[in-house]
Amino acid sequence: MSQTAEQVPTCAVAIVGGGAAGLACAIAAGRIWAEQQALAPALLGKPAEERPAGQLPVVLLEKQDRLGRKLLATGNGRCNLSHQPLDRAAYHGTDPAFADAALNRFGANETLDWFRQLGLLCRTDPDGRVFPYSYQASAVLDLLRLELDRLPVAVLTRWRAAAIQPDGKSGLTVISEADDRLSAGQVVLATGGLAAPAFGCQGDGYTLLGALGHRLIEPKPAIVQLTTPREAVRAWTGIKVEGRATLRRGSAILRQEDGEILFTEYGVSGPPILQLAGLVNQHSARSGRPLQLEIDFLPLLAEAAVTGFLAARLARNGQLPLKSLLTGLVHKRIGQSLARQVSGLSLDAPCASLDMLQLQQLAWQLKRWPVPVTGTRDWTQAQVTAGGLQTADFDPDTLASRRVPGLYAAGEVLDIDGDCGGYNLQWAWSSGRQAGEAAARASLGQWPT
Ligand SMILES: Cc1cc2nc3c(=O)[nH]c(=O)nc-3n(C[C@H](O)[C@H](O)[C@H](O)COP(=O)(O)OP(=O)(O)OC[C@H]3O[C@@H](n4cnc5c(N)ncnc54)[C@H](O)[C@@H]3O)c2cc1C
Repeated sequence: MSQTAEQVPTCAVAIVGGGAAGLACAIAAGRIWAEQQALAPALLGKPAEERPAGQLPVVLLEKQDRLGRKLLATGNGRCNLSHQPLDRAAYHGTDPAFADAALNRFGANETLDWFRQLGLLCRTDPDGRVFPYSYQASAVLDLLRLELDRLPVAVLTRWRAAAIQPDGKSGLTVISEADDRLSAGQVVLATGGLAAPAFGCQGDGYTLLGALGHRLIEPKPAIVQLTTPREAVRAWTGIKVEGRATLRRGSAILRQEDGEILFTEYGVSGPPILQLAGLVNQHSARSGRPLQLEIDFLPLLAEAAVTGFLAARLARNGQLPLKSLLTGLVHKRIGQSLARQVSGLSLDAPCASLDMLQLQQLAWQLKRWPVPVTGTRDWTQAQVTAGGLQTADFDPDTLASRRVPGLYAAGEVLDIDGDCGGYNLQWAWSSGRQAGEAAARASLGQWPT
């Protein structure tokens, strides 16, 4: 049954979405309100998820049955929560500089201090990725939830926001799918994007704010595997190589990444490949020459050195069968298919059958094995959304909407995305805290009504 006007609970700040950004936001807003109010011990004795809305200044709304489910899956369960140093070139969007204000205020060092205060020790791997010391994502979520329990925050789960409406006075009303209502002085939207819908991300935030006049940059999957013609990679399914992946359009190199590359039945995966996906989707939308991926199986060697090595091997043992020519250089299956492709001969033929031009071609293939990119895998496989709510509609210093007074947005729902390596969670923490503090400060004096 829906509430009557008198029954609608009110709060100072309502946060829609209990993922990384929403949790950071609720903690930031709760801390500001904790400094303002003598807290009612009877209410705070209960866990945040058992407290009623309407009696506490901050309310966190989550449509799933638990907070932070996606967080548990991050970094393969290890939660790569930040990156040190925090390279700003790793952030993308129509205006990546929009993220600077939040990232300057709440950067990587500041975030690590924040977590330390919550009781979480972190470690930074040699490549800059920051993890909880225990490598357990569950520790991160547990400590965030414990902090909510200490603060004047109520959490409502299984509460899916279906509309946000200005209440005609100075506040906003959030209306659930079940037609429950919550009235708030300020509302922060932290509903994430479209990546990994199993964790509750189905683009709700775009619909909610679209209805209020906010503009959307078309969302595309990012940090996701690339697809190629199946016949190009099928024989190598399951093979992992330490190599270099280069994304090209014609002669232009769009991006180059080193690391472990995995061949799969649909295409290619692995950290360097995931980094290229955002660009693939961006460039696929433009007309022009098709995108091509080149894989360097021997990034530590120059092409001439590879040719020289092969020529020396052939000179030493011309009777060596072709199938063994690349043994010791690359994975056996990869070596044999390249040798067959370049020579057009049986793999039992002797290496001496190859001429110098064919040896050079073989070295070229090992350094620049080309494969057309047909696209990326879909939202179910993507870790991040590129695109989202247009940042020009928000103030970067507060993350307040320029279109709807009292409304804010934080995290992946905005048109900011980061590279693999902890950049996306860092954006969620930084923007969540930025919006939470700004919304709480704006709400002081507005509640209790
Ligand atoms: C498998 C996987 C691994 C990842 N690993 C990493 C990593 O190691 N490091 C890193 O930096 N990034 C990682 N990411 C990306 C990172 O998790 C996200 O960028 C980040 O969680 C975004 O935070 P967010 O709070 O903006 O959105 P989300 O975490 O997506 O949270 C949004 C929340 O809002 C809720 N919600 C949505 N609509 C509504 C509604 N209408 N009403 C109420 N609630 C709603 C959702 O249920 C969800 O709980 C990973 C992502 C995935 C999928």
